[in-house]
Amino acid sequence: MPVNVGAYRKLISEVNTEKVIVVAVSKKNPVTDIQLLYDLGHRDFGENYVQELLEKSQQLPPEIQWHFIGHLQKNKVKFIVPFVHLIHSVDSLKLLHEINKQGNKISRTIDCLLQIYIAREETKFGMDEHELKEVMLHVSKENFKNVRIKGLMGMASFTEDTEKIKNEFNYLQGLYSNINKDNNLNILSMGMTADYPIAINSGSNLIRIGSLIFGKRQ
Ligand SMILES: *Cc1c(COP(=O)(O)O)cnc(C)c1O
Repeated sequence: MPVNVGAYRKLISEVNTEKVIVVAVSKKNPVTDIQLLYDLGHRDFGENYVQELLEKSQQLPPEIQWHFIGHLQKNKVKFIVPFVHLIHSVDSLKLLHEINKQGNKISRTIDCLLQIYIAREETKFGMDEHELKEVMLHVSKENFKNVRIKGLMGMASFTEDTEKIKNEFNYLQGLYSNINKDNNLNILSMGMTADYPIAINSGSNLIRIGSLIFGKRQ
């Protein structure tokens, strides 16, 4: 499917892009589609798979800000650390340690979000509230030099029940403002094609939009 330029333009005009970052999630879509959006001025793109991200980034302008939003395995961290803009999917202290270690090797500080499990009914990756508190405690004690925690990321349940989605986003927003008191966070990544208006209403300032822009994935 070709890029839906009309839908993209409409989205950009409706969302207050001074406050909300729009990440175009390009997984499984070709580099030509990404280039087209790049030529329209878009710079933030999201990918879920390390191999795919590496292949695409080599073929596209270095000005692109790549967001890694998929499940990240420890042994693959080293491949994305040299160029990734923001890792949204940090779901364990071990992974954070590895990102810090690989960042240290190349003297780069990597911006990260902690992924929180908020969807009650499905198996989605992420930490719970308790793990989040533990990680934040470690971060404050250990003083990681090569990672910077910028905020939280979460995915709501896949459901038509907007009340449920709203509750999940509000819960994440609550956690975010809570830990934000002692930390300088500035990114709350929540909202996708199906639920981004609800997410923005609940305080999201980064939405991750795939199928609205690129069409339905295979
Ligand atoms: C695929 C994906 C998206 C985009 O989903 P759409 O429903 O196509 O907008 C956003 N966030 C994550 C973590 C994803 O894996």
